[in-house]
Amino acid sequence: MKVHGHSKYNARGLAPSGGSRRTVRPPKKSLGQHFLRDSAIGERIVEAARIEPGETVLEIGPGRGAITGMLADVADRLVLVELDGNLAQMLSERYAGNENIRVIESDARDLDLGTPGGEPGDIPEIVGRPYKIVANLPYYAASPIIRRFLAADNPPAEIVVMVQREVAREMAAPEGNMGMLSVATRFYADPEVLFDVPGAAFIPPPKVVSSVIRLVRRPSPPLELDDEASFFKFVRAGFKAPRKQLHNSLARGLLIEVPEAAGIIDRAGLDSMRRPRTLSIAEWGRLYEARAGIAADGPAGMPANGPEGND
Ligand code: SAM
Repeated sequence: MKVHGHSKYNARGLAPSGGSRRTVRPPKKSLGQHFLRDSAIGERIVEAARIEPGETVLEIGPGRGAITGMLADVADRLVLVELDGNLAQMLSERYAGNENIRVIESDARDLDLGTPGGEPGDIPEIVGRPYKIVANLPYYAASPIIRRFLAADNPPAEIVVMVQREVAREMAAPEGNMGMLSVATRFYADPEVLFDVPGAAFIPPPKVVSSVIRLVRRPSPPLELDDEASFFKFVRAGFKAPRKQLHNSLARGLLIEVPEAAGIIDRAGLDSMRRPRTLSIAEWGRLYEARAGIAADGPAGMPANGPEGND
């Protein structure tokens, strides 16, 4: 992680060029660089974030600053996390001298997010105080970045991000048709897909359509769990064969025999002929407890944690 210093003051939110002699480098495909060129869409994203005076905003992947200037105009404090060293340096120069804007050159997945009342981590601005994330995320890292912040000890109150349309749809899939990503999202937040953005709105245009999604952090989780990571490993195991009936999918995921999986499902009071996507979060919780109960009695098969499955 590299924190860029400030060297000169620029009027807040004006988004100046960042230095006339700076070379504009071509977008890096490996970093998912598709730069927003339609400022009207940028405005819609910032409006969707409903930023109140006094709020702190974290923008991940600010790139060339398509929405950064607009965020700077409305946020009290703005922290920018950019992995591309050249862009981080350019933004740092652009906002130099503005005490309310800080640029961190880092992979957003590697940041130490700190603990409220404990360690300040890499972004002390977000520890122990409310903040929002607003971003046009790189497709390749969108899910892990969102998951990381949702599950943090100091999560954001709201996340408004642009991601691939299919990812947004899957995050916001309704109860009754939820995959692993939907369960992992709805466990922490209420999702709402706001609007789609065509590839033509970016340079270079991606082959896929994007969507802006808003995730509002739930005041409390829907299940009381001792070990959230263990629960999600179990759910992941339950989705090992998502198109199969629950007993088959669970048996494959937990590396146990089908009758044993059927026993767990029966103990949870569920119909083992159902497909994994039909289960609610409460039902996954019952299944997890039924499995944990059997594991505590010393069954054959995997440890209570379950194996690492595919998303
Ligand atoms: N916000 C800009 C816009 O709307 O034009 C750029 C969006 S572009 C889709 C994604 C940005 O995220 C790029 O600037 C890229 O360098 C940056 N990025 C890619 N991977 C990252 C990571 N792991 N952590 C932080 N930033 C990342």
